[in-house]
Amino acid sequence: MGSGKVTSSAPSEFRGKHITVAGLGVSGVPAAKVLHGLGAHVTVVNDGDDERARAQAAELEQLGVTVRLGDGATLPEGTDLIVTAPGWRPDKPLFAAAERAGVPVWGDVELAWRLRRPDSAPWLAVTGTNGKTTTVQMLASILEAAGLRTAAVGNIGVSLLDAVLGEEEYDVLAVELSSYQLHWAPSLRAHSAAVLNLAPDHLDWHGSMQAYAADKGRIYEGNRVACVYNVADKATEDLVREADVEEGCRAVGFTLGTPGPSQLGVVEGILVDRAFVEDRYRNAQELAEVSDVNPPAPHNVANALAAAALARAFGVPATAVRDGLRAFTPDAHRIAHVADVDGVAYVDDSKATNTHAAEASLAAYEPVVWIAGGLAKGATFDELVAGAAKRLRGAVLIGRDRALIREALARHAPEVPVVDLDRTDTGAMLQAVQEARRLARPGDTVLLAPACASMDMFANYNRRGEAFAQAVRELGA
Ligand code: ADP
Repeated sequence: MGSGKVTSSAPSEFRGKHITVAGLGVSGVPAAKVLHGLGAHVTVVNDGDDERARAQAAELEQLGVTVRLGDGATLPEGTDLIVTAPGWRPDKPLFAAAERAGVPVWGDVELAWRLRRPDSAPWLAVTGTNGKTTTVQMLASILEAAGLRTAAVGNIGVSLLDAVLGEEEYDVLAVELSSYQLHWAPSLRAHSAAVLNLAPDHLDWHGSMQAYAADKGRIYEGNRVACVYNVADKATEDLVREADVEEGCRAVGFTLGTPGPSQLGVVEGILVDRAFVEDRYRNAQELAEVSDVNPPAPHNVANALAAAALARAFGVPATAVRDGLRAFTPDAHRIAHVADVDGVAYVDDSKATNTHAAEASLAAYEPVVWIAGGLAKGATFDELVAGAAKRLRGAVLIGRDRALIREALARHAPEVPVVDLDRTDTGAMLQAVQEARRLARPGDTVLLAPACASMDMFANYNRRGEAFAQAVRELGA
């Protein structure tokens, strides 16, 4: 640690240290409790001062933790270390002050990494712009099928701190990491890691595409067995090349095409491993069938291959890959088939909150009536629309930034009928679904893949997906 004040990660070394936890919330509250429990003097700083923050503060204060609400910018006097919520932007004044004072900054993942027991389970780590949660869950399912004690943890609801410090013993962890978490995790060293894909996202946070890629690339640093990359996405392979890994660590690609040596891929509907086999120049190992992947959309098969690669790097047998993929069911709102009404399939991919995700799900259906729109987060839609134009039966646009999509459709798909819904009230989704039904013909798919965030109309993407599913049920009633 830079300041030289807290130099190692043995739990005893936190005793008596002055640690500032930046941000209450999912990671801040448990971090504050753990550090307090280790005998550190903990001060939590938080920008907000609302009711929820006050309730959390009261709970922590009872334990003896100091909480400063409404001031997340000032570095408390005497701070030895900052542990930050991953979402806090690096350009915040607090971090500038820390840099001036030579105070190191860790995120929640760094803290968990440092606090893990010396003999604790290795991490198989996954990042990427899209597909992280799905891949990590597939991976956990495969590891379980192999009889290993494991859990899907990290950026998916299960705290890494709990996994690392809790009672439960694991053989291996399937860890989802966001670009934010990686930014704040300088010493993380995974057993093996995968970057699924790289497309512009969260650039306002990272400052540039280069900085975003560099943060994602940290996941490969120090890998011991395999760096898994996407053959179709050269940027991921570049990150492997730039990484400083352990001697003997291999670069392993995954591809939807025929795999070369040191790759996993697909041959005639079969997922095939040419990386973790004896004599990879001549041999290949069958892992599973494409139809074992749920749903078998191309991008999801890519996720399955990445999960399989990490599992195989850990020594899991081929049969466990098949069994684990068969046992896997995707989370809600990720290409979820809601119902068929009058021969038209209704699919909820509300989780497609950026253009890269929407592109993947649009590619899986034809012809498709596309429901899109919401908050664009600075994205442009030309590439997405131009790529999907041929498959579109029609489009129904909702939300604040829908004009951006409408204009892209006018440029690249002028013949596609578009319904522009100028309303953001709770009934808007029902009308969107009704309009989509009007446009669809039997055999078509109506796909909610908004390519946008949901917060202009809904609390989150879950609510948006639920509104869609509810509207579809009303159609069928
Ligand atoms: P993340 O955790 O990275 O947000 P999810 O697994 O939750 O990823 O999937 C989010 C959305 O991204 C899905 O609903 C789907 O639209 C899209 N998606 C999933 N996997 C991929 C992939 N490999 N490439 C592109 N888009 C994907």
